[in-house]
Amino acid sequence: MSKQINPYLDFVLGLDATQFDSLCDAINQRKDRERYGATSFEEAALNYGRKPICPKCLSDKYHEDGYTPSLAKRYKCENCECSYTLLSDSIFNSSKISFHKLMSYIQLMSFNVPLELICEVLDIASNTAELWRKKIFSTVNNYQNHLRLYNRVWIDETYIEDYQVLESDNYEKHPRGLSKTKICIVVVIDSSKNMLAIICGHGKPSSKRVYAALKNHIRPGSTIIHDGDNSHKYLIDALSLKSEVYIANTKDSEYIKNMAMINNMCSWLKRYIWRFIGMEVENLQSYLNWFIYLQRCKRDNEKWPKSNRILRHLVLERVRFKRK
Ligand SMILES: [Zn+2]
Repeated sequence: MSKQINPYLDFVLGLDATQFDSLCDAINQRKDRERYGATSFEEAALNYGRKPICPKCLSDKYHEDGYTPSLAKRYKCENCECSYTLLSDSIFNSSKISFHKLMSYIQLMSFNVPLELICEVLDIASNTAELWRKKIFSTVNNYQNHLRLYNRVWIDETYIEDYQVLESDNYEKHPRGLSKTKICIVVVIDSSKNMLAIICGHGKPSSKRVYAALKNHIRPGSTIIHDGDNSHKYLIDALSLKSEVYIANTKDSEYIKNMAMINNMCSWLKRYIWRFIGMEVENLQSYLNWFIYLQRCKRDNEKWPKSNRILRHLVLERVRFKRK
């Protein structure tokens, strides 16, 4: 078989640097159009039905008012006279990175690739990569708040070391409070694979703490499948839940079979958290929110491709991102 000659090769090799950059840009735009149906976040936002709403007074009465220097459509609020764009109250407000690069960033982040690798692949600075991670996390801040699990619901706790407590002077003074160095995460999954992961303080949680973490997240009447720990009792009684207990024993096939769902979720969660060793604990809940959000995207991936779903979420979310 004779080797096919690429008819564009000589043409591309003959381009100067500026021409070549323009060509790459055009190619990327074509790929983005095919993949996302858009070549900018503004266009994607319009496609997904985002409406211009005044970020100051929330009025939807406006008139169009030309374009910004970066060619985004400008709106003027008829209520408070404020000028804004479609993406003023989104994480993409005045973003300088191209759509193509940012979509590649989002794609890599959806696999939880280490930030260092993202910087290397996309040729961006580490503070830029960190800023975007914070921005994207800010869109899932309240993501778990409205989740309510039902039917058969597995609950368990998993623990991760709090390095900040370990390093602090306080720990030196109370070396015996070992469990206090661990952060407790309550992990929940139901038969439809809805999931929750919520921080529940340090050390082994009390029944009041478990109740406070989960009271708004489980529909009354559901069956709780768990290890029978006393800290679950108050929640079970207060929400009139049924209780099904399997005592932890890795040699017992009944235990393994019945607790596989929650045990798998705990190991996935731990594997995910280990990537962020050394992170600031104040950010932990954000990491957990992102984990839960991604799990849901993955669950529905066949119905709805993950990257498109994340793009839709990000351009429709109304957030005011503040740099700390
Ligand atoms: Zn207004």
